[in-house]
Amino acid sequence: MKELTIVHTIQELQELLNGHRRQGLTVGYVPTMGFLHEGHLSLVEQARQHNDLVVMSIFVNPAQFGPGEDFEAYPRDAQRDAGLAAEAGVDILFMPSAEEMYPQEGGIRILPGAQAAELCGASRPGHFDGVLKVVLKLFNIVDPDRSYFGMKDAQQLAIIETFVRDFNLRTAIVRVPTVREQDGLAKSSRNVHLTELERMEAPAIQRALQKGALLVAEGAKVKDIEQQVADAIVKNSSGSIDYVSLLAYPALTRDIDNTNEVIIACAVKFSKTRLIDNIIIPLKG
Ligand code: AMP
Repeated sequence: MKELTIVHTIQELQELLNGHRRQGLTVGYVPTMGFLHEGHLSLVEQARQHNDLVVMSIFVNPAQFGPGEDFEAYPRDAQRDAGLAAEAGVDILFMPSAEEMYPQEGGIRILPGAQAAELCGASRPGHFDGVLKVVLKLFNIVDPDRSYFGMKDAQQLAIIETFVRDFNLRTAIVRVPTVREQDGLAKSSRNVHLTELERMEAPAIQRALQKGALLVAEGAKVKDIEQQVADAIVKNSSGSIDYVSLLAYPALTRDIDNTNEVIIACAVKFSKTRLIDNIIIPLKG
């Protein structure tokens, strides 16, 4: 196992990285909010394959949580995370405090465009402002050659790709497929907040999305597909629907006549947590 270095301050991290860069090493970066699972570790695996050095950050970013959301309850376990990161081959683990990341508030905001109008952007107002804010800071701090993001958060990934392109950010963005439990449930830090029964029901989400994909292939109408996916989730679980939407990907618009791929994405609320998942479907012709 390689040695893991844990740093808590921006200065420490940058001193360390400057040394490595002088030797010409490439840096792969995996931003996370911690409570690591195999989804996060598959990002690390990819980063290891493409880069000399892997940096992971763990920061539960207050700016991307709205009032009444689960910032306080978000699962955290720094010690366990450090062990998993070391095992997975992370070289540098950056775990800043909120004071380190946000020492003062100058009031400048970064606003996402139309890609944030639907899905979580609609049901979590301001969420992607907070994501872009922290992502820009982290990219500037780490200055990675490549950054790794999971398709489980497909809207976040699409918005970040646009951000990087529109603002000429130096990092390349690498998409990583969603890692699932054996029964199809997308791995998520929030899964620990499911009750035993909800955990048994939750694979219904992916099953419903797969059914939606079949309906797309059969040429069903968008509204019917959304309705059938929502019905299947409600019928087979105690979750309630936040949204089920079929959109062009990665544009995330309702115009699906001019896209190579569509996404069916959903958010489902259980008693103590809200889960998201999606399926990407290539269109023929
Ligand atoms: P989070 O800690 O939940 O903010 O996630 C950090 C990164 O890991 C994001 O790029 C997520 O999309 C990615 N990620 C989370 N869950 C999974 C998963 N099940 N499979 C692949 N990537 C994931």
